[in-house]
Amino acid sequence: MIGLIDCNNFYASCERVFNPKLEGQPIGILSNNDGCVIARSNELKPLVPMGMPAYQIQPKIRKQITLLSSNYELYGDMSQRVFDTVRNYTANIEPYSIDEAFIQLDGFSDIPDHCQKLRAIVKRDTGIPVSIGVASTRTLAKLANHIAKKQVIHQGVYCLATNTTSFIDTLKAHAIDEVWGVGRRIAEKLQTLGIHSAWDLHQADLKQIRQQFSVVLERTVLELRGIACIELDDLATPKKNIMTSRSFGRLTGDLFDLQEAIRMHACRGAEKLRRQQSVANAVAIFLKTNHFRKDLNQYHPSIVVPLAVATDDSRLIVHAAQKGLQAIYKKGYLFMKAGVMLLDLKAKNSNSQYDLFTDESTVTWQQKNDQLMQTIDNINRKMGKNTIQLGGTQPQAPWQIKRQLLSQRYTTRWDELPLVK
Ligand SMILES: [Mg+2]
Repeated sequence: MIGLIDCNNFYASCERVFNPKLEGQPIGILSNNDGCVIARSNELKPLVPMGMPAYQIQPKIRKQITLLSSNYELYGDMSQRVFDTVRNYTANIEPYSIDEAFIQLDGFSDIPDHCQKLRAIVKRDTGIPVSIGVASTRTLAKLANHIAKKQVIHQGVYCLATNTTSFIDTLKAHAIDEVWGVGRRIAEKLQTLGIHSAWDLHQADLKQIRQQFSVVLERTVLELRGIACIELDDLATPKKNIMTSRSFGRLTGDLFDLQEAIRMHACRGAEKLRRQQSVANAVAIFLKTNHFRKDLNQYHPSIVVPLAVATDDSRLIVHAAQKGLQAIYKKGYLFMKAGVMLLDLKAKNSNSQYDLFTDESTVTWQQKNDQLMQTIDNINRKMGKNTIQLGGTQPQAPWQIKRQLLSQRYTTRWDELPLVK
């Protein structure tokens, strides 16, 4: 079984740990330069919509609420503490965003009981309240988590078993756009086909879904049916954060190797960011040693680096990611995995990046950068991945997936065409 552990109102909860007066109060966290609201406590939700610029909040409401600048250093460190705590009580943990992680729960005889204990321990040791959803696949665990969080009666833990009437009810009660990996555009298209709820999608024809949408959505349908087939690394564009990570082909403790891997992930993340027309407010990076190798020293650091302005510029994102790596890297460990997460995404709206004091030269500079990034993306799309990249890469780098058995790219590369003798 797979669990999804999710911190409740994470940024607000972090603030409350060190400022208990904020408990029960409406709190909002602002983006860089205190621009707009990027996180809300439950109490703030009915008062202020997500993403609202701070200056647009009416004075009457402003007086009743607490607004805080985003403190990414604190959130990053608290995230690390929560995951470290969880790691002590589970076989495997895969962080999925700054406040969510999937955990392996196989082998526990009483899973709900174990999860309740885990929840209590995390709260005791870190001060952060969490909810845990449990099911046989990641997609279902996500739905289960939603119930764990929304329905107080379950006390923060909900196990969703397939083949029960409550399973059908649960799926019927969730709209398709609440299903993990189903974005707004796909949801709209599904609705035209009469598929409105998670249950409708569960019942959909696999072949039709594959033909009219994608293999990725087909996998989502299988996952809703309880067949696990989505790995963390092959997620469809998530809405709130973008994560790129990969296990290395071999273990490495070399800083140069890690820098290269982080640069590659940061670039790939920035590319995805531009594809979905978002900008990120912060970059998180993490490293992982191999937890199965009990003979090796273990170290699972992570860090969040805020971006001065929300951006989709590969160069700024790579720079921030490298800064983060410098801060957490330690010699003497062999790493198995590295990854980059782009946090607190918002729609790229050319106006929102500027304020009254932005001068014309900044705007021109920004437009030039946008053009540069667009050009790089276009070339890479036409000529193949990594035709243009930031910095070079070593062909035998450990982070490269093992591709020693790779055949030629017969149909897409002029220099790899099959030869006729
Ligand atoms: Mg959360």
